[in-house]
Amino acid sequence: MFRRIKGQNQVVDLLQRAIEQQRIAQAYLFHGSDGVGKFMTALYFGMALNCYSSSEYRPCGVCSSCHKFLQFEHPDFIYLFPTVNLKLSPEGEIKDSDALKQYESYINNKIESPWQDFFFSGSTEIRKESISLLIKRLEYSIHEAQHRVVIIENADMMNTQTANAFLKTLEEPPQNTVIILTTEKLPQVLPTILSRCQPVYFKPLSQSVIQDILFDGFKIDTVVAKSAARISGGNLKTAIRVAHDTENSTRDKAFELMALAAKSKSLEHLNHVLNHKDNTDALLDMLAYLGVIANDLVNIHYAPDEVTNFDRTDFLKGISHASIPDRVPDYLLLLDDFSRKVDGNVNPSLIRINLFIATKNLLTP
Ligand SMILES: [Zn+2]
Repeated sequence: MFRRIKGQNQVVDLLQRAIEQQRIAQAYLFHGSDGVGKFMTALYFGMALNCYSSSEYRPCGVCSSCHKFLQFEHPDFIYLFPTVNLKLSPEGEIKDSDALKQYESYINNKIESPWQDFFFSGSTEIRKESISLLIKRLEYSIHEAQHRVVIIENADMMNTQTANAFLKTLEEPPQNTVIILTTEKLPQVLPTILSRCQPVYFKPLSQSVIQDILFDGFKIDTVVAKSAARISGGNLKTAIRVAHDTENSTRDKAFELMALAAKSKSLEHLNHVLNHKDNTDALLDMLAYLGVIANDLVNIHYAPDEVTNFDRTDFLKGISHASIPDRVPDYLLLLDDFSRKVDGNVNPSLIRINLFIATKNLLTP
């Protein structure tokens, strides 16, 4: 099952070696950008440490121990992540009913579709109460596992006070307990935490790995998988979101905008452009998509085999003209600039107008 983690062979090898040689660190820090498999690897590692199968391909994913891990029901698996204030009772019960609902949704989402983000309504952090409760739980003996497994997700979201309360446990965890911290923001992890863990780096996923996962695992069509992989920047979560959006509309909308910009003499189509009301993510995906199409407009001249949207070859040929290759680099810079503005909360309508004008300038011979 470890081999289901794609594109992180070095990490998987390292962890499997640690298990074979029985040299398990007490604490690991899995770091690397979002959507590269840190959590799933941590979970599978915990499963492998406790799997009942005698095969060398542990975790098996089907024994009772693996099963409990996959359902997040193993009594020796403790999972902490940033939350809103849960108003915990001293026994660890969540007192706030709305917070409880959100907490359960977070876990369910993690089980059902870990490639999707779940956002709490309200600001989140790894709370001191949760850490105190963890420390208390670790004082009890292990129920049934060979190794108790603690995963603390986004460990950077712990304030100094909370981190300090945790240091002693991190340095000397109880026997047969493995603590795995994960973070996308290594520089924000407190040095005192960092120095007590074995760091494990997860690199961004390559385009071909993402493309394969989308195609094999999610049955996404090749053209869409190829462009989503390009846009994703090595983040599987982004790739899956883009691919799903795209199957619905983002890609079509990007092509529609190109078509309008190519044919309209005036700005008469601006109304149409402005009538698209969508969220920030959709606008960012659209900008990313236009970048892929712009690259295709160049490739169609020099490297037809590398055209991503190969099912739209005729359209691309129709709108590409001799000056396109010289203009595309500046257009790509503009797209980057627009993306930064979206992130910086500039009015989306303003960005759309400028985007339309820039696209028109690109495409007007
Ligand atoms: Zn198993």
